[in-house]
Amino acid sequence: MTARTASAKWKGNKAALPSKICTVCHRPFQWRKKWEKHWHEVVYCSQRCRRGRGARVRRQIETP
Ligand SMILES: [Zn+2]
Repeated sequence: MTARTASAKWKGNKAALPSKICTVCHRPFQWRKKWEKHWHEVVYCSQRCRRGRGARVRRQIETP
């Protein structure tokens, strides 16, 4: 896990890679090799977001 990687600045061909906004944390993320086959389906920046609204937005858990 490299969750601590600071990706605020992208050094390199910024325009070369497509990017999207995560539907869970609303942060921009860029194309990754592992997504090359299903990039069009990717809407989450990480596994954590994909599994469910991660730890960052616990408020969205259903309330009685
Ligand atoms: Zn996310």
